[in-house]
Amino acid sequence: MLDQSINAAKITKLSQIDYEWLIQIALKLNLSNSIDYIYELIVYQSAKLLNADRVSLFLIDNDSHEVYTHLGMGLEGKEIRLPMGRGVAGTVAFTGQPINITDAELDPRPVRNYFGYATKTILAVPLKLNGTTIIGVVQALNKADGPFDERDERVLEILCSLAGVALERANSIREKEALDEKMIYQAQHDLETGLPNRALLLQRLSLDLEEAKRRQHELAVLMIDLDRFKLINDSLGHEVGDELLKQVAHRIKTSVRMNDLVTRLGGDEFVIVLSKIKSRQDVGKVAQNLLKAIQRPFYVDGTELFVTGSIGISMYPNLGKSVTELIRQADNAMYRVKAQGKNNYQFFAEEMSDIELRRLSLVTQLHKALEFEELMLFYQPQLNLQNGKLVGMEALLRWKHRELGMISPAEFIPLAEETGLVVPIGNWVLNDACKQTKKWQLAGFPPVRMSVNVSAVQFNRNDFIGVVREALHASQLDPQYLELELTEGLLLQDIQGAAAKLKELKKLGVYIAIDDFGTGYSSLRYLKQLPIDTLKIDQSFIRDMRIYDPAKGKDKALVEAIIMLGHNLGMNIIAEGVELQEHVDFLRDSKCEEIQGYIFCKPIPALEIETFMAQGGPGERLSATLLNNHPGKPGLVEKAG
Ligand code: C2E
Ligand code: MG
Ligand code: MG
Repeated sequence: MLDQSINAAKITKLSQIDYEWLIQIALKLNLSNSIDYIYELIVYQSAKLLNADRVSLFLIDNDSHEVYTHLGMGLEGKEIRLPMGRGVAGTVAFTGQPINITDAELDPRPVRNYFGYATKTILAVPLKLNGTTIIGVVQALNKADGPFDERDERVLEILCSLAGVALERANSIREKEALDEKMIYQAQHDLETGLPNRALLLQRLSLDLEEAKRRQHELAVLMIDLDRFKLINDSLGHEVGDELLKQVAHRIKTSVRMNDLVTRLGGDEFVIVLSKIKSRQDVGKVAQNLLKAIQRPFYVDGTELFVTGSIGISMYPNLGKSVTELIRQADNAMYRVKAQGKNNYQFFAEEMSDIELRRLSLVTQLHKALEFEELMLFYQPQLNLQNGKLVGMEALLRWKHRELGMISPAEFIPLAEETGLVVPIGNWVLNDACKQTKKWQLAGFPPVRMSVNVSAVQFNRNDFIGVVREALHASQLDPQYLELELTEGLLLQDIQGAAAKLKELKKLGVYIAIDDFGTGYSSLRYLKQLPIDTLKIDQSFIRDMRIYDPAKGKDKALVEAIIMLGHNLGMNIIAEGVELQEHVDFLRDSKCEEIQGYIFCKPIPALEIETFMAQGGPGERLSATLLNNHPGKPGLVEKAG
């Protein structure tokens, strides 16, 4: 659409040559989508068409309400600025009407003497986008060669109209390109962290792989997965989880070189491609640095969070030959790290696929385990060390798989936690353990405390207290016989939240134990803030006590310290994993109240527990085998009796 102001009557005054010229210009404008090119064309073509000494293009600066020279002949990089409505260009920009000054000396308007250039005549025409919005002014100057006439004014107006249409088109193309670029960016990036996503990883990795093949370089793919991220997400909320991921992404990015590719696959999984590496050792160092970087505490919302990561590494040309192979292998290796205790890295090795296969099949079959009644509880007795009496037992989950046989909870509980299945499974355990305890009481066995393991995923759910209340109600078990075992890490994630929840649980009348004490965080501050009844010293400390090695002697000191600390805080202490007579002696001397371990009983099914209890009580057995025979401790015999 051409400028409406072009008057058909006046156009007729133009010559054949003018038309041809303008058509040429229109064709050139039509071919270009570059705004800069269009501006240049306006300036240089109008100088030619008008035979002007100088032509400048002013653009409007909407922020400062000024016009300024964007492009022009004779400006030599200098910029002229005029307020809107002032001077010739400012007035044209303001009114939208052309100005033609035939003799500057006689004109009342102030005409600037541009850089010593004595202007005689001036023609200024507005430049409008699509004939409507004024965006600038084209201004032609002449020294002496006679004034600009009506033909000049019309030619310049037509030129500006043609340019206005071309500019509008170029603008919309540019906007569309920017939009396309934005959409491509969004399709290839994870918007949470700003890192490239899986799509871009696949694209870039295949380019890197081709390059590595051509140049015979080595290439490494590192897959990082945060350990126990789901727990943080579930317990502290998704906002905290998202913020943590952002910070982790930043740490990872700043721990590798600029040109290493860092991507996020989704969730808490990141993939890094190291494209030009010298040796496997270098890759190992990068992995170590990454682990260290992730281990440093994170601060989210004023909370200090500790996380670790597991890294799996695959390498070209070692075993991985294609993009999918490299990613799958890194993933396999990562799962192996998880299975072997997390917070470490490992290179892919062929035999790993078995582990992955088993893991995959276990996850799918775990869904059926509850339904098929393949889950059952074993019970492990806990004894009082001073009198040898049975004081409690721990319910330990067993999965009796139709084909694979007995599967250890150490293997499937983490899978159940990852998939969320630990919630229904844990509820079943709680209910079953309460019912069994009540059943034994009704059958006339002396009542003892039942300890039930609770996973963080269960504990952090809003309905957890209701679930416990319901299990007590359904079984009619007196709450004083139920103890919940929680881990340190779980409580530490959100001390205030945990404290509030524990208080609610205490109101129900149940007991609270900390399981695996000593393995989580070295900080003991939190213990005082929480209503905890029992500390279970982790079996690793007890196990290490058997070695009479001065260096390992530290563990004895540690166990003593834990017992003292617990006593000072008014807690009951139980040692688990007690396998040797020496353990018993040392623990009794250190005033540890209770023990649990293979030395007197492994975890056994409910029926065997009944036999165990019916055999006249473990007190006599224990006093005979463990306490009585100990020379130099006669006092204990009397107590045990
Ligand atoms: P845990 O709660 O620390 O349980 C103690 C583990 O030590 C049990 O392993 C037990 O069989 C083993 N143990 C007991 N005495 C000895 C000993 O003298 N020597 C040695 N070497 N080991 C001993 P288990 O039954 O394989 O359970 C492993 C872990 O699985 C448990 O550790 C607990 O964290 C988890 N778990 C078991 N049942 C449940 C459950 O119902 N819910 C949840 N969330 N976790 C469970
Ligand atoms: Mg336990
Ligand atoms: Mg334990």
